[in-house]
Amino acid sequence: MTQHTTSLTILVTGASSGIGEATARTLATAGHHVVLAARRTDRLDAVVAELQADGHSAEARELDVTDREAFAAVVDAVVADRGRLDVLVGNAGVMLLSRLDALLVDEWDRMLDVNVRGLLHGVAAVLPHFRAQGGGHVVTVASIGAHQVVPTSAVYSATKYAAWALTEGLRQESDPSIRVTTISPGVVESELADHITDPLAASAMETYRAASIPAGAVARAVAFAVAQPDDVDVNEIVVRPAAQR
Ligand code: NDP
Repeated sequence: MTQHTTSLTILVTGASSGIGEATARTLATAGHHVVLAARRTDRLDAVVAELQADGHSAEARELDVTDREAFAAVVDAVVADRGRLDVLVGNAGVMLLSRLDALLVDEWDRMLDVNVRGLLHGVAAVLPHFRAQGGGHVVTVASIGAHQVVPTSAVYSATKYAAWALTEGLRQESDPSIRVTTISPGVVESELADHITDPLAASAMETYRAASIPAGAVARAVAFAVAQPDDVDVNEIVVRPAAQR
């Protein structure tokens, strides 16, 4: 089998900042057609304009991953335009850390909606096309939090354990034409922690962020998994700062 040097069509969710944006840039630079999806279309349009000006192939699609029908509509439109969708990078996520006894229940719901339901909506949207076209690849951006729980991470970790389990379940249930990869990053430079409202969790994150690595480090891991030959399925990559214990 040869490596994927041909141009694939790849949908990246949460591509308006951080890991998703870096992944979209890396994959477009590698010669793939990248569909950048998120809610902040001004950010997507700016990245797409930059990529196109450099001669790369990219487009922006507005998408709130919590909207199941909207997710299916975006995937259907990409397949209608391009003839196929080869890879879904399910990256969109929120991390609203707090202790359970702070009872920020709306934030628990938000994490479950984006990190778990949003991922499932993507899987539901792409699987019929993967079956019809004879294969595809789901790359899930989980977290080190999919392997360990620390105080304030209970709900976030629960969503990432779920992301890990859903991706592994998909692997076990699928025929070999469908590949799955979980990427589990450690602390990465991005806007993720900016949305934490709990003051204790926010100040704890300041310490963690001191040792963060650039989003491009995770993007390279995604590109590595995508570039493998069809019969090679890279199931998980953990990428963390060397200084992160
Ligand atoms: P950012 O906050 O920079 O990016 C999050 C992205 O998710 C944004 O593009 C945002 O776009 C998108 N997003 C959020 N809600 C929705 C929604 N409802 N619909 C569509 N898109 C949405 O953080 P990161 O790049 O760090 O996070 C990316 C992924 O990486 C997340 O799943 C996160 O859990 C994971 N991760 C990050 C780590 C880190 O240290 N940074 C460590 C481990 C995992 P918009 O607001 O425009 O919709």
